[in-house]
Amino acid sequence: MNSSAMILPASETHRLEVLYSYGVLDTLDEQAYDDLTRLAAYICHTPSSVISLVDSQRQWFKSRFGHHANQGSRKDSFCTHAILNPDTIMVVKDALQDPRFMRNPAVIGPPRIRFYAGAPLITPCGEALGTLCVFDTQPGDLSDAQRDALATLARQVMAQLELRKVIRAQQDSAHQLRHSQRQLEQQQQLLQQQQLELEEVNQQLRTLSLTDSLTGLFNRRAFDARMSEEVERSIRTRTPVSLLLVDVDHFKSFNDVFGHSEGDIALQEVAGLLKNNARSYDLVARYGGEEFAVIMPGTSTVDAERIAERLRASIAAHSWTLRTVTVSIGVATLAQGDSIQTFISHADQALYRAKEQGRNCVVHWTGLQEH
Ligand code: GH3
Ligand code: MG
Ligand code: MG
Repeated sequence: MNSSAMILPASETHRLEVLYSYGVLDTLDEQAYDDLTRLAAYICHTPSSVISLVDSQRQWFKSRFGHHANQGSRKDSFCTHAILNPDTIMVVKDALQDPRFMRNPAVIGPPRIRFYAGAPLITPCGEALGTLCVFDTQPGDLSDAQRDALATLARQVMAQLELRKVIRAQQDSAHQLRHSQRQLEQQQQLLQQQQLELEEVNQQLRTLSLTDSLTGLFNRRAFDARMSEEVERSIRTRTPVSLLLVDVDHFKSFNDVFGHSEGDIALQEVAGLLKNNARSYDLVARYGGEEFAVIMPGTSTVDAERIAERLRASIAAHSWTLRTVTVSIGVATLAQGDSIQTFISHADQALYRAKEQGRNCVVHWTGLQEH
């Protein structure tokens, strides 16, 4: 048989897959394997021993005892012959007498192999990955005991390979676990961020649902909610609460003369003036079309009238571009036993009276009672 014609095992593709699954090729020297080659050479009385793994085009040595090169061409390798019969140890007593090897470069040149014995490294699934082999520059042979010992050491090599494969798999799954944990953390962060964004949107929606779009003041809904709170608080804490209803005077005519858009702008200006001249804890709301309301917590009749007058005056004194805009204001202070409806209707009656009195003025409901 010509050494250049390479005969492959029947399951070569699978065999290579299995070999690669051990992840051993081109790894560093390891004591556990070096101990086994040294022992093999010692037992078989040879100067050299290697653990040879047969790759597709080369044989690579995981461990070398008495041999320098760490790999060689597969087609010139003895081991590629040895793995063709995985069940037996291949013994070549004198390579120069064996037609398979007599012209082999490793026989006629360095390392001048004459004697070779290789025990295949068999995986649990029956593939031969390579051999644990011994060789000498002199012809030789193995006793039965030496054959047994070489086969035993080959099984030890395989046990080491299996052990390292298991350790590698554990390391991989630990790595996988860390990777999954990192992914999970990233997903949690993303979720938290989305929740924050959602809360922000919800907050914006809440603000929008309580805000009048034309003026930016609180809307009627916010007014109703706050009225309940403040009336309840006033009763509970026995502190006063007052309410202003503010109505723009002759606003229909303003619209008629200057148009609805200019009317809108005037309403925005009135809203701004009310907001700026009220106190921070007063709630200024758009109550209806051209009507506004101011809830004044902790505010007695006298103070409420004073602030109402300040608001009225600030609007009347504003430098209006088209025409002076004025407001009439009805004031009420919550009296004992009043419902919210009664409280509002008192302010409304006062406002009605302010209109009657000629507009651009402030009337308090208690003032009506005295007449
Ligand atoms: P009074 O002094 O008696 O309150 O007279 P008024 O003209 O203001 O009262 P009236 O109730 O007759 O008319 C209110 C006007 O307010 C009519 C309506 O077109 C106008 N108005 C209500 N809402 C808006 C609005 O959002 N924009 C504009 N431009 N006008 C509005
Ligand atoms: Mg009105
Ligand atoms: Mg009006």
